[in-house]
Amino acid sequence: MKPVKTEPSGRGARPAKGAGRKGGAPVSVVTGAAGFLGSHLVDLLLARGHRVIGIDNFVTGSVDNIAHLSGRSDFRFIQQDVTEFLYLEGRVDCVWHFASPASPVDYRELPIQTLKVGSLGTHKALGLARHKGARFLLASTSEVYGDPLVHPQPESYWGNVNPIGPRGCYDEAKRFAEALTMAYHHEHGIETRIVRIFNTYGPRMRLNDGRVVPEFVSQALRHRPLTVFGDGSQTRSFCYCSDLVEGIHRLMERGDALPVNLGNPREMTILEFAREIVRVTGSRSRIVHRPLPKDDPRQRQPDITRARALLRWEPRVTLTDGLRRTIEHLRGKVRP
Ligand code: UDP
Repeated sequence: MKPVKTEPSGRGARPAKGAGRKGGAPVSVVTGAAGFLGSHLVDLLLARGHRVIGIDNFVTGSVDNIAHLSGRSDFRFIQQDVTEFLYLEGRVDCVWHFASPASPVDYRELPIQTLKVGSLGTHKALGLARHKGARFLLASTSEVYGDPLVHPQPESYWGNVNPIGPRGCYDEAKRFAEALTMAYHHEHGIETRIVRIFNTYGPRMRLNDGRVVPEFVSQALRHRPLTVFGDGSQTRSFCYCSDLVEGIHRLMERGDALPVNLGNPREMTILEFAREIVRVTGSRSRIVHRPLPKDDPRQRQPDITRARALLRWEPRVTLTDGLRRTIEHLRGKVRP
């Protein structure tokens, strides 16, 4: 297949003249376009000269995340569940499959929808890519590593997942999605990419999605206690959304079919993270402890050796800067 040629390097790069397989702007389909990461990806693609068709059923996405795009001739939105048959007229060059609940609270509440979007939804999105001769990128997750026994996690690690635990619906859906993506690559010869996304944060996260960043920030802004689960010694590594979507764009452009970890290797305990949020918000909040949810991974840190070599990518935004931008966004939404 002829490559979809857009300028690979540099922020704000424009597509090469004659980009797209038949000339003109490349056409991208983004599932989960109204979600946190999906909507940031749409913004980046539009800035790089793509025409974008966004699909979302608003189960966890929000119209607010794409409201600023209304009236643009290069963006079209379709409200649809991606597990239903996807029919689109015309050319499609890239399919970016981002639809899925992604917060542990959301997927615990929506286990069947989470399994369906990861399996049936991935099948439909791959079918669309195959039919159109498009490249396909799957938004996978560090959750495929489960509660990892290898640290930090390289892509070669197979993971330690409890299939019937509270996270099983998400972890196994994404593991199935990876397997299906590889099967389409091998059997139908379509060009595919798999990104394993580690904890990412930024503006447009839903205030009540239960994930640690919006949770701690909204607690801190209201000067309420920050609820650290367990003793807070479990670790995470937080990547700012603009860094992440830049890496994802490079992966589509110059990656290969094998999975690539994207995330920030700066690891910290959740207790340290809570203290950092209190510091950056200037809050009077204290820290309280709540029971650790079942199967909460003890440690998580991406090994990004492969992303560095293949994509010449690494995160640039510091935690303090990223948190400031996120707090600014959430401040407007928090009721005192
Ligand atoms: N966490 C916490 N307090 C909260 C929400 C989350 O201590 O109010 C912890 C959670 O137990 C986990 C970490 O923060 O260890 C990250 O949780 P999140 O839900 O953001 O995503 P995960 O990385 O677990 O998928």
